[in-house]
Amino acid sequence: MSSAYTESLNKLIEEFGKLPGVGPKTAERLAFYILKARADEAMALAKAIEDVKNKIKRCEICYNLAEQAVCQICTDERRDKSLICVVEQPKDVISLEKTGTCKWVYHVLGGHIAPLEGIEPGDLTIEQLIRRVREDNAREVIMATNPNMAGDGTTLYISSLLRNTGVKITRLARGLPTGSTIEYASGKMLTDAIIGRQQLE
Ligand SMILES: [Zn+2]
Repeated sequence: MSSAYTESLNKLIEEFGKLPGVGPKTAERLAFYILKARADEAMALAKAIEDVKNKIKRCEICYNLAEQAVCQICTDERRDKSLICVVEQPKDVISLEKTGTCKWVYHVLGGHIAPLEGIEPGDLTIEQLIRRVREDNAREVIMATNPNMAGDGTTLYISSLLRNTGVKITRLARGLPTGSTIEYASGKMLTDAIIGRQQLE
């Protein structure tokens, strides 16, 4: 980094440079933008970052992102609480919600099982899901893990644990390209996958 910059400007460029998709040139441009911005505008950005880190927590029921103890979806009276859609990440909830077809509630696992990466079932919210299915008398669990090896493995593992609860287990139809992720699927593709979901044996 140029020694022509002051210490704090160098630090800001360095921090921007850590963001995904931001190269050195962009980091420099962003830092100069902040330098020139009005103080209240620059502080609003700093405050937004602070709030995201301080206020956002996990919903006590579904582990989705929430600013209260329970998220907005879990408190929504119009949702059918007996249908639980299981996803890997909060971003997947957003993708599925954008289709406008979901009347269910969610359960966010917090990832997928990947022993080689050191992610064991105990690192995810699987135990909580099984308890929830039993206690809430769920009618259907819709598995919406990513259609790739890790996602499929996680779905198989969970469905084996749910087998003796008597709940119906389905998964999104295979309109989703194998090896892809829920996050990057188009709205139309996801809607078809939701409507065409199939029962898991
Ligand atoms: Zn929730």
